[in-house]
This record gives sequence, structure tokens and C-alpha cells, in this order.
Amino acid sequence: MAPEISTPAILLRRTDYGDYDLILTCLTLSQGKISLMAKYAKKSRKRFAGALELFTELNLVWNRPRGRAMPVLREASIANPFGGIRADVLKTAYASYWTEMVTLWLESGTPQKAVFGLLRYALDALDRDAMAAEVLSLVFQVRFLKLAGFLPDFRHCSRCRRPVEATQSGRFDFEVGSASLVCPACRPSLEGGHHTLAKGSLMQLLWVAETDLAHVSRMRFGPRQVGETTVLLETFIPYHLGRVPRSLKFLRQVRPGDRGEH
Ligand SMILES: [Zn+2]
Repeated sequence: MAPEISTPAILLRRTDYGDYDLILTCLTLSQGKISLMAKYAKKSRKRFAGALELFTELNLVWNRPRGRAMPVLREASIANPFGGIRADVLKTAYASYWTEMVTLWLESGTPQKAVFGLLRYALDALDRDAMAAEVLSLVFQVRFLKLAGFLPDFRHCSRCRRPVEATQSGRFDFEVGSASLVCPACRPSLEGGHHTLAKGSLMQLLWVAETDLAHVSRMRFGPRQVGETTVLLETFIPYHLGRVPRSLKFLRQVRPGDRGEH
């Protein structure tokens, strides 16, 4: 008999497969992102005791497949339902955006324990209202980009190489395509079409990227700083993914203050 694998996992995506089955995309603690076949799960919710809801933290058991076949789920039990997320449209939109980033960005089958920890942290805090959702989304995006190796150098001006904390106050430019930051002193040489960020917003972004996650919830975030950093991240991420995630379009439709365009 094939060896059994048992691991915590977060359900990222469910896709119908024929009339009876579901294909699940999960971020697992020990195996990274994987796809699993859940036989009869579409036909009968009872098959896995209603455990296969999006964003749920589960304990999964499956057999290591022969060759390249998709593994077949044997057991699923709920570790944390995060039910407060699915009961709220805005929370669902945020959780969908984060899980779609993970789905689109991570390669399958490579363990990503830090990403698992980050996603679990964000879903748990969203579920419990531990932090404002827009702040949590900023934290998730910055930390995820860092773990994925795509966080731009927000610490130095790309022209004069001066560290942000050593520059004069004022607005920095950020050029999305080249992911380059330009300090206020070097700014006059730039053409238009850039995003700008206040020095305070940049310092907050750097702090979010580098501090221990356990301390993040104690920080005070200014609404204006969160707002302009959010606009930058939600422009940078689609640019580097090569498309606007569907979940981000949905988030923009349901988020108060958004105009539903972009
Ligand atoms: Zn400079």
C-alpha cells in the first residue's frame, strides 16, 4: 500500500470535476501547494462531513499516488473553520484575494511553511476581527511578496542609493514596471506616470516587512498611509502577475470607498 501523508492544510480553491467529484487546491504545511481529488464530495457533502469549505484549516490525509496521478483525498477534518469569513462578503473578498495570490504565485509541491504560517495568521485575524481588514491585507501583501522574493527595494533610492530613513521628508516616486523607488531629491528628473508615497508610508511598509508578525497587531496604522500603500501594492501585484486577479476585481466592487473601476 502506498505511504500515507497527513498534514495541516488551508483550502484555497474548489473546482467541480464531473457530476460527483471536486478537485481541491490546498496549501499544505508539509507539501506546499497541491491539488487533490475529493471523490463524491460534490455529490454528497456528507462524504467529508461538510469540511471542504473555502479558507478552512483542515487536517488532510491522502495516499502518495503512483507516478503522476493526482492524489486522492481519504480524510478531512476541520482544525479551524474560520466561519466568520464566509459569513461576511467583504471578509470573503479579502480572503479570496489572498488565497488567489497564493494559488497564482506559488509553484506546486514545494514546501512553503512560512507562507502557510502567514496565510493562517491572516485568516485567523480576519475571522476574529483582530485587525482592520485593510491593514491585514497590507500586511499579507507585503509579507507574501517578501517570502516570494518579489518585494521591491523600498529601503533605498534607486538613483542615489541613499537609505529612506536618511533622506529628507517628502514624497517618493515608485515606478511599478521597474520596481524602483526614487527619493524626493532625485525626483525632479522623472517623467510623470508614477505612484508616489510619503516617507512615513514607506517607513511603515518597511516596518511591516521586517518586524515579527506577533507584534504587527499592536502597531497603529494611519488611514492615509494604509490607503496609499494599498493602491501601490494592488497595482504592483497585478502588474507582476501579468493580470488582475478576479478576486481583486471583486474586492474593488464590494469594498467601501472603492469606485468599482480600475
Ligand atoms: Zn535619490
